[in-house]
Amino acid sequence: MMDLLRSTQSIIKSALQKLGYSNDMYELLKEPLRIITVRIPVRMDDGTVKIFTGYRSQHNDAVGPTKGGVRFHPEVNEDEVKALSIWMSLKCGITDLPYGGGKGGIICDPRNMSFGELERLSRGYVRAISQIVGPTKDIPAPDVYTNSQIMAWMMDEYSRLREFDSPGFITGKPIVLGGSQGRETATARGVTICIEEAISKKGMNLKDARIIIQGFGNAGGFLAKFMYDAGAKVVGISDAHGALYDSDGLDINYLLERRDSFGTVTNLFTNIISNKELLEKECDILVPAAISNQITVENAHLIKASIVVEAANGPTTIEATKVLDKREILLVPDILASAGGVTVSYFEWVQNNQGYYWSEDEIDKKLRKVIVDSFDTIYQTSQKHKVNMRLAAYMVGIRKSAEASHFRGWI
Ligand code: NAD
Repeated sequence: MMDLLRSTQSIIKSALQKLGYSNDMYELLKEPLRIITVRIPVRMDDGTVKIFTGYRSQHNDAVGPTKGGVRFHPEVNEDEVKALSIWMSLKCGITDLPYGGGKGGIICDPRNMSFGELERLSRGYVRAISQIVGPTKDIPAPDVYTNSQIMAWMMDEYSRLREFDSPGFITGKPIVLGGSQGRETATARGVTICIEEAISKKGMNLKDARIIIQGFGNAGGFLAKFMYDAGAKVVGISDAHGALYDSDGLDINYLLERRDSFGTVTNLFTNIISNKELLEKECDILVPAAISNQITVENAHLIKASIVVEAANGPTTIEATKVLDKREILLVPDILASAGGVTVSYFEWVQNNQGYYWSEDEIDKKLRKVIVDSFDTIYQTSQKHKVNMRLAAYMVGIRKSAEASHFRGWI
């Protein structure tokens, strides 16, 4: 299995070739323009000082300021941060936002840190990267194990450093500090819209559809609720502990009420199956919304769904994508399906800049238009160039960075 950076680069190469760009353009876009490594000393609660390593990667700022989340995780590494910043360029290109891609990360385990330690780490990170970020340079956001409280501390630190209030420095903030309505549900809303579009392409009806969702956290949980409320039959869900399947449909409200804050609920049941078994169960739509590398060459030929919508990042390997293609399963790729989050982050930044705030209804309408248009452009591109939706998404996603770099005279 290729690692994330290598596989991203290989698809970008194919996408640029299809678009008729020279190899020079690939050489420019295959790596971030800028990545910094920072060392952050943090006074721990026991009085000792621990030095944390963090990164901030800016893939390409030809289109506009870079944008992307900051993750706190023990497995953060430089290559992953680089690849994820390239993905952000692709997502912003797909959704036609005026940004390039950025990403940050700190090697740490927030599950074993106190509130005070996390606050000092968050503020230290902002001080360490403050020269290269800002509302018109590079705008961070939440990602794995970071949340609105961490965004609030980071925004406060940046505002103290610059000596003026800077809500547009970061998105995913609490509403009272300039956060946007609809940010929490944005990813699941985006996935929902992609499912509706994919279903209509296949001539199916959402009310008759049976759906399996792997992962019952922020993305999977809200998605299950939206699908259930729309009258679809959610026949399977899962979490890190196991999976539940019922061909008559699960009671999603009941499960959501009992879910814990880590997105776990299946531990309360005895009739559970494994995540592996769940992916191979009867359904029309399969949504991996948990972790990467879940659909591989080992199980791609066993999947019963006719539509796979990737809410998680990288749930299907390159090799498995080929198997799904051959079987004519419609795959809506991650960089499209999970673009709802960055889109509403953009709306948050726009609202911060204009100082005028929209209602949840307005946000939902604006988000729907962006995702429907993006889906349509990618679907048309895939038909026109006779390529799968993943390659089409990369073609649409990378085109803006390539065109902007060209107009600026860089290539
Ligand atoms: P989360 O932490 O809220 O929930 C993760 C869920 O996955 C939990 O139910 C957990 O139990 C389950 N899980 C963990 N390990 C598992 C395993 N080995 N097998 C099966 N299930 C497992 O995370 P989230 O925010 O819902 O993110 C889920 C995926 O969606 C990730 O790949 C993330 O990168 C992607 N994503 C999320 C957002 C967002 O805004 N939340 C945006 C873009 C992409």
